[in-house]
Amino acid sequence: MNRIVYLNGQWLPEAEAKVSIFDRGYVFGDAIYEVTAVTQGKLLDYPGHVARFHRSIGEVGIVCPVSDEELLAAHREIVTRNSLDEGLIYLQLSRGPADRDFHFPKAPVPTLSMFTQAKKFIDDDAHVRDGVSVITLPDLRWGRRDIKTVQLLYPSMAKMEAEKQGAYDAWLYQDGYITEATSSSAHIVTRDGVLVTRPLSHAILPGITRGSILSLAREAGIPVEERMFTVDEAKAAAEAIVTSATQLVQPVVKIDGQPIGDGKPGPLTKRLRKIYIDYHLAHLI
Ligand code: PLP
Repeated sequence: MNRIVYLNGQWLPEAEAKVSIFDRGYVFGDAIYEVTAVTQGKLLDYPGHVARFHRSIGEVGIVCPVSDEELLAAHREIVTRNSLDEGLIYLQLSRGPADRDFHFPKAPVPTLSMFTQAKKFIDDDAHVRDGVSVITLPDLRWGRRDIKTVQLLYPSMAKMEAEKQGAYDAWLYQDGYITEATSSSAHIVTRDGVLVTRPLSHAILPGITRGSILSLAREAGIPVEERMFTVDEAKAAAEAIVTSATQLVQPVVKIDGQPIGDGKPGPLTKRLRKIYIDYHLAHLI
């Protein structure tokens, strides 16, 4: 790849962007990230992502070195510099380099970086047309999953376990209740057509796509319940769905080998995907 990336105010060919081995993002996983989808060369639901970015950095006490205007301008510029039509922008802010010490440095100089990754996600692909299968695994991540940190080892291990078992992804559970998928929010549709999703808490990431889907569903008159649901309830549901910035709304048709509903993508999943895409294509910035 020959991308132009952003590092601390500079635009650089990707091979020239260098970060210190003392960076706390590297040594402690002391960094926050965001992923914003891009389509038609424009940003999809950027306000939601930047709001969550501010919330996450506030929770861990990292201060963003640039203003919101500069951050938006950088998002737009990285799209232009890389002629990105469809894909994602990855943004990361670490606490920056410091001698290794569990205490935060007194005068941190945060590291702000961004890169793009091309990816097609608007047109239906095989995952959307046929649905995907997931396995369930215990949620062994740390207790502040509401903060979007770069500590993604357990989700990576869970995805590898899913792959090993021939599945696309894993849904994680705690005390018998589904928390979320490794890198997306998990939802089910009950047999009487209610969209059910776990309420926000420290247990899950406040998915930006999740929030948007819930409000679009409510506006469309689709009944929504924010409550916990068990692994067994998910397996007995009419439909199962994952949402994320670059998967948008994707059908899950098998959980632990058990078909969900009739084992095909369900009508509400398809409707929500269409509602989501129609709304956001009309609101790109
Ligand atoms: N949950 C987790 C653990 C995630 O990593 C992600 C996205 O990366 C999501 C949910 C979905 O969030 P969003 O819709 O903001 O992409």
